[in-house]
Amino acid sequence: MIIQRLAVIGVGLIGGSFAVALRKAGVVGRIIGVDTNAENLALAFSRGLIDESAPDVASAVEGADVVFISVPVCAISAVVKEIVPLLPDGCIVTDGGSVKAEVVRQCDALMPTGCRFVGGHPIAGTEHSGAAAAFPELFSGKRCVLTPGATADPAALETVSLLWSAIGADVCRMEAGHHDRIFAEISHLPHAIAYTLVHAVGTADVEGENVLSYSAGGFRDFTRIASSDPVMWRDIAMMNRTALLASIDGFSASLAELRRRIDTEDTAGLTEFFITAKQFRDGIV
Ligand code: NAP
Repeated sequence: MIIQRLAVIGVGLIGGSFAVALRKAGVVGRIIGVDTNAENLALAFSRGLIDESAPDVASAVEGADVVFISVPVCAISAVVKEIVPLLPDGCIVTDGGSVKAEVVRQCDALMPTGCRFVGGHPIAGTEHSGAAAAFPELFSGKRCVLTPGATADPAALETVSLLWSAIGADVCRMEAGHHDRIFAEISHLPHAIAYTLVHAVGTADVEGENVLSYSAGGFRDFTRIASSDPVMWRDIAMMNRTALLASIDGFSASLAELRRRIDTEDTAGLTEFFITAKQFRDGIV
């Protein structure tokens, strides 16, 4: 047993999977969930992701050793503001949000004396949302990045690390701004491009044809993540806009270079461009 009582605020894909994985691992005494979406909360309870569904955040965080916040990133600090007067002394607050610098800055500043905030981001997910999509193996063998800020004491960090490790995650620690620049490139940019590609092709006019009706494996594989929750991705783009804009500029420069090689019929350059990309891709799979 690592902790006695865990409160999960936002029992969707991430919160629900975290809860059910911890239950399965048997390292938390009791897990209480709360969610603004009553239907989702009821489903989380009926699916056995949580032991108890709380009617409000006050009942959820009462007596909690750890509070895990898994709501869209722009809503995290508002949730923390709401729970701050209710937190038991010594409580650890952590989150699973995909953007860290702003979240850690805001939440650190809000922590009352005696409570600690530890930022976290599991590098695992799917294009589906809600308790219906949660499953206990989601984080197994995947990275979880912890981004401790000013109030994260070593004991709190250790407890949060132990929880993620207990469900099979490979925990690493990183400075929050560094995290945001890395994940702008490797996660936020690909989502932005997938949405943009589907948007562009979906609105393309080729002699009045419905171009999307010709989509096959390649297009569908490449754009799977454009089926992700638009609100979640709107929030990520807004919260990490500086790093994401830099990533989009870098990508635009690469695309312009590809365009130039096609336009000038630079076949050697085009081959070299594709070989380099293929080597990078082959190296990660
Ligand atoms: P999700 O499946 O949509 O679950 C979030 C749940 O929280 C929803 O039921 C939502 O209700 C509820 N909620 C929203 N605002 C709330 C509030 N103020 N108080 C209580 N509940 C609230 O989302 P998710 O995919 O689990 O994502 C949660 C967090 O994890 C996000 O910060 C995201 O950046 C991060 N994350 C996601 C992934 C991924 O692949 N999905 C991966 C890593 C990290 P409504 O449906 O009514 O909004």
